[in-house]
Amino acid sequence: MLMPVYILLSFLLSTTPVQEDAYKAQREQMVEQQIKRRGVSDKAVLNAMRSVQRHLFVPPSIANEAYTDSALPIGYKQTISQPYMVAYMTQVIEPTPDMKVLEIGTGSGYQAAVLAEIVKQVYTIEIIPEHGKMAAARLKQLGYDNVEVKIGDGYAGWKEHAPFDAIVVTAGAESVPPPLFEQLKEGGRMVIPVGPVYMNQTLKLIEKKRGEAVTRNLMPVVFVPFTREKQK
Ligand code: SAH
Repeated sequence: MLMPVYILLSFLLSTTPVQEDAYKAQREQMVEQQIKRRGVSDKAVLNAMRSVQRHLFVPPSIANEAYTDSALPIGYKQTISQPYMVAYMTQVIEPTPDMKVLEIGTGSGYQAAVLAEIVKQVYTIEIIPEHGKMAAARLKQLGYDNVEVKIGDGYAGWKEHAPFDAIVVTAGAESVPPPLFEQLKEGGRMVIPVGPVYMNQTLKLIEKKRGEAVTRNLMPVVFVPFTREKQK
């Protein structure tokens, strides 16, 4: 007789719901203080940032730091971008529900999840197999059925699913990989950090207009390097 009471009690006393609530409040605070205040105003983007449980995309040991105003380590020398940067990069591609988006640099899968909240389909490529596999499992578990993860070098893009309405590159490239521009739809937008490794990178917005690249420099940034698969 004692056993069921104990189980019921431990269920009622479980800390999970309380913790979830705390994170919900933290997400709201993140949106208000880090994202809206810096000028991100797209309603769909703000809602996506409110919805995606960022604490599930960072190592459990730093889950309590998930909503702070910074990038965080996710292992293998990679980082999950600062929340504001994720929101800003999502806003500049002007996401709508009918879009098909390619992301290069899946990492934790967080940026892919934010995109997946808004657009129809997300394709994302990750060069580090461990990250790719973990992100794919996490996204599946969280119910993001409209994200497909591929492990490989994103330099070549994903021809089978091209052209894309937008491309989001989340690693700092020394120059814009030509295959990515090719796989962008006419009128499409690509956001990409460009510059030398770990310094003087510029976040660029590239629009394809009559087949030509129209480029706007958005802001100075620092991203982890865009690496290349060893040529066989
Ligand atoms: N968007 C991620 C953060 C990415 S960090 C998130 O939301 O968590 C940058 C990621 O790009 C790293 O995981 C790195 O391994 C990956 N990357 C670097 N060069 C790449 C390439 N050529 N192709 C695919 N992924 C690459």
